Amino acid sequence: MNVPEIFGSDVFNESVMKERLPKETYKALKKTIAEGKHLDIEVANVVANAMKDWACEKGCTHYTHWFQPMTGLTAEKLDSFISPTEKGHVIMEFSGKELVKGEPDASSFPSGGLRATFEARGYTAWDPTSYAFVKADTLCIPTAFCSYGGEALDKKTPLLRSMEAINRASLRILKLFGSNATRVVSNAGPEQEYFLIDREMYSKRKDLIFTGRTLYGAPAPKGQELEDHYFGTIKTRVAAYMKDLDEQLWRLGIHAKTKHNEVAPSQHELAPIYGTTNIATDHNQLTMEIMKRTARKHGFKCLLHEKPFAGVNGSGKHNNWSLSTNTGVNLLDPGKTPAENAQFLTFLAAVIKAVNDYQDLLRVSVASAGNDHRLGANEAPPAIISIFLGDELTEILKAIVEGETYTGSKKVDMEIGVDVLPNFPRDTTDRNRTSPFAFTGNKFEFRMPGSKLSVAGPNTIINTMVAEVLDQFADVLEKADNFQDALDDLIKKTIAENESIIFNGNGYSEEWTVEAEKRGLLNLKSTPEAIPHFADKKNIDLFVKQGVYTEAEIISRVEILLDEYCKTINIEALTMIDMAKKDILPAVVTYIKELAQTAELANACGADTFFETDMVKKLSSLSSQAYRKVSELEEVTIKAHDICDLQVLANYYHDVVFTAMGELRTIADEIETLVGEKYWPYPTYGKMLFYV
Ligand code: ADP
Ligand code: MG
Repeated sequence: MNVPEIFGSDVFNESVMKERLPKETYKALKKTIAEGKHLDIEVANVVANAMKDWACEKGCTHYTHWFQPMTGLTAEKLDSFISPTEKGHVIMEFSGKELVKGEPDASSFPSGGLRATFEARGYTAWDPTSYAFVKADTLCIPTAFCSYGGEALDKKTPLLRSMEAINRASLRILKLFGSNATRVVSNAGPEQEYFLIDREMYSKRKDLIFTGRTLYGAPAPKGQELEDHYFGTIKTRVAAYMKDLDEQLWRLGIHAKTKHNEVAPSQHELAPIYGTTNIATDHNQLTMEIMKRTARKHGFKCLLHEKPFAGVNGSGKHNNWSLSTNTGVNLLDPGKTPAENAQFLTFLAAVIKAVNDYQDLLRVSVASAGNDHRLGANEAPPAIISIFLGDELTEILKAIVEGETYTGSKKVDMEIGVDVLPNFPRDTTDRNRTSPFAFTGNKFEFRMPGSKLSVAGPNTIINTMVAEVLDQFADVLEKADNFQDALDDLIKKTIAENESIIFNGNGYSEEWTVEAEKRGLLNLKSTPEAIPHFADKKNIDLFVKQGVYTEAEIISRVEILLDEYCKTINIEALTMIDMAKKDILPAVVTYIKELAQTAELANACGADTFFETDMVKKLSSLSSQAYRKVSELEEVTIKAHDICDLQVLANYYHDVVFTAMGELRTIADEIETLVGEKYWPYPTYGKMLFYV
């Protein structure tokens, strides 16, 4: 495989544009991409035609506006390039108008009341900052998706708006430091975790098929306790899958970089090289899709659910985030000179304050029924938001607040931006894996997102909240008579006021929950508890001021998130009921019958039938209990139909239905340990996790 040759070969990227477009068109398009400028229809016509020719040479027959509705998935509606000519022939055509704008009938996407179904039209608009690409026989054009009234119906539009917000706010600050940067972008490197299991076994599990996770399943004799899977040798079959996956991602210009086995058996990770938050999001969405498709080819099923198996780790998506300028500076890199240090400290202080002020939004950005299984469980950060800075950086900040001399490495005075600051530590401390928001040398790693989540949401929130604090800083600093003094005061004050969000200890410990409560930090344990904070007044103010969401867009998102939560739990409950009634209980009956008949025959021979009779008693008792629990679950699920208020309904699903599901599972899992494997209707945890 010649990687440099195949890399990006399915992408209409800079080099293809340069090669295929007239010079003037190329220039105009580049300007659009670099500055977010409007594109003339004449230019669009030329670009569209070149794209079509290029795509047809690659075997394409169709094009699609590829967009990201609020389901968190991607959507596409394919149109062929054919255009009839006289004499019954066709030619392949693609116009600038078709490139720039689409009008899919969008009535069946969630809109949270933003668009009544009778007004079905939605618009897709080309996002020229993300390259068009070829997938199967289709030219895919990344687009934003909005309603007739211009409200964002997707995840990309708010993300692009938030990137504008952070660009604007960062430039205000940089100007004060005398920087000549003219553009600041936010970057993300999402590490993607996933499970691979045999497709044959997957196809026998209704729970995996309908819900993406196992709703029943007794633990296998072995779990992850030997810590022998993490970074372990990759099995041949999995390695072949990963190789194939890498190749396809590279063809699409996705910088797949790192791959390894994860902590849980059959769990793996893929990390790309980071890109702008917009492109990283597009690429991550594509990565997930291609992971799933490639799995099929290799006889696997790729599970992207946040918690496919109880008792072993779930899957997350660590979102590494940073800010950089078009002059090549990473604004979260501590740097080596005092001036850089002061600028770094300003951005660091802004992130600290933003995380403290908008803890609720960060939590909301990762809330889902699936991720509720991770947050607060043993492998993921807790639902409480805090920042890890490492001991040394924390000491430095403490010294700044107290106006003292930091003596950690060498003796220096601590006046920001004036005197020499120490070289800031980069990765000197041990990696803290329990923190939800960790500084890792020159970027922050937000560890709460679940594996299935689109990273558009979390990055929209991070960009917006940091933009807001940078704006607040700029408001103070721009007015100051003496910049150095004002900056010194501002940083001291900010660190002092937001110290409570900094926590370098073990985020999994009981003590932290108690300590966090004392500090007044939020602990929004479940999705129904977290979501309504999206629409808190302070948060609406933030989004409206930063131009990221309108109030109506926020309200619609609250509705969509709550609705999705309710539907997810409802599907899970119905699946559990179905599995119990149609498969599990009948299987137990068959096994009991076998035991009872054996006991009778053995009795006739005068043999000891203690095993058979004891098992019959145990299993009959357990299956009666299970049956009662199934009826209870059915009852509470039906009662949900009587609740109209969405928030009340979400609370009900969480408190009542979800609890009843847990009770049923406990009994069924006990039954599983007693029933002969050949009678059990589903592949066991052991088979699914270890027999790859
Ligand atoms: P680890 O698991 O040790 O945290 P990985 O190599 O698995 O590290 O993933 C680190 C991720 O962080 C990669 O996607 C990488 O590209 C990304 N990253 C590195 N530097 C930056 C940065 N400045 N901004 C955003 N992401 C970054
Ligand atoms: Mg990491």
